[in-house]
Amino acid sequence: MARDYYGTLGVSKNATPEEIKRAYRKLARQLHPDVNPNEEARFKEVTAAYEVLSDPRKRQVVDLGGDPLEPGGGGRGAGGGDPFAGFGLGDIMDAFFGAGAGGGGRGPRSRVQPGSDALIRLSMTLEECAAGANRELTVDTAILCDRCVGSGCAEGASPVRCDTCGGRGEVQSVQRSFLGQVVTARPCPVCRGFGEVIPDPCQQCAGDGRVRSRRTISVQIPAGVAEGMRVRLAGQGEVGSGGGPAGDLYVEVEEIAHDVFERDGSDLHCSVRIPMTTAALGAVLPLSTLDGEEELEIEPGTQPATELVLTGRGMPRLRSNGRVDGRGDLHVHLDVVVPTKLDARQTELLRELASVRGEEEPSLSGGGKGGGLFSRLRSGRGHR
Ligand SMILES: [Zn+2]
Ligand SMILES: [Zn+2]
Repeated sequence: MARDYYGTLGVSKNATPEEIKRAYRKLARQLHPDVNPNEEARFKEVTAAYEVLSDPRKRQVVDLGGDPLEPGGGGRGAGGGDPFAGFGLGDIMDAFFGAGAGGGGRGPRSRVQPGSDALIRLSMTLEECAAGANRELTVDTAILCDRCVGSGCAEGASPVRCDTCGGRGEVQSVQRSFLGQVVTARPCPVCRGFGEVIPDPCQQCAGDGRVRSRRTISVQIPAGVAEGMRVRLAGQGEVGSGGGPAGDLYVEVEEIAHDVFERDGSDLHCSVRIPMTTAALGAVLPLSTLDGEEELEIEPGTQPATELVLTGRGMPRLRSNGRVDGRGDLHVHLDVVVPTKLDARQTELLRELASVRGEEEPSLSGGGKGGGLFSRLRSGRGHR
């Protein structure tokens, strides 16, 4: 009479490998001799049941009414008695601590994997960053194979268990060392860890369940974006292998430097050169801003390095919630240009101006009362 391994673990005959592992892990925690010395016999029984049912080949023997642990039952060769013989330490560690603790992931990995994210850089002018843009993008990503719908199998075919690893997805090798037996496991090279192989793969995707495709999508870039900001398009990234859920597509803004405006967050800066006479007399000059032609008012007597601020003429302030909250300012830096080449007439006029203003003999006042450093220097050389 074959032993009831399913009953020992308390799982149904159609339990998944994951359910079997979970059931064993739970029982092993309760019955482990370190925790419960009186239950050692049951612990061995439970462990033996797990050893059988977690091995697809042995489990098959059970399902056919046999007992892989009975001599001649199909599974175990020499050894017999002790269910721990030949049972890797890794399996027990794994049962206690989950996959990875006993060295390497246990069991076959799923063919269906989530897809990875994709990133596209999008060049935008300052004007586009300010106004926002609706752009068509050509993306080259993995999409679901429409012929096999992700299964990777040719029509009518299905994956079969890998013979090399018996469906475990990994192959073990046992080495004897002075410490005893060392069991190492590595992913099965034939099925790449899936535990199953596709003998008749889909012609279109070669069994991957996805194909590369170029497609056009439209993306709405909000107003106020800046260099390095990313817009996330959920589910527009790569489809995963085996038809797994697609990752996200990120569109990263690459801001093209502007000829005139320099950006500092939501503020803009620009330099405007004005002649000395304009600085002195004042003027109203046309200035091209993001909003079109504006009038820039230069006050009479404007000094070099004056900064004029046009409130609200900067970039939209994009908040992290995606909303625009007002606009920054435009800072106009005035650069007063002193003429370098004067003809005779211009020289005459400027001399006359200097004379009228009493500036033929300029005094170098340093700002403080009684003259500063420069006036003292000059007074030593016979300044009138
Ligand atoms: Zn396919
Ligand atoms: Zn394999």
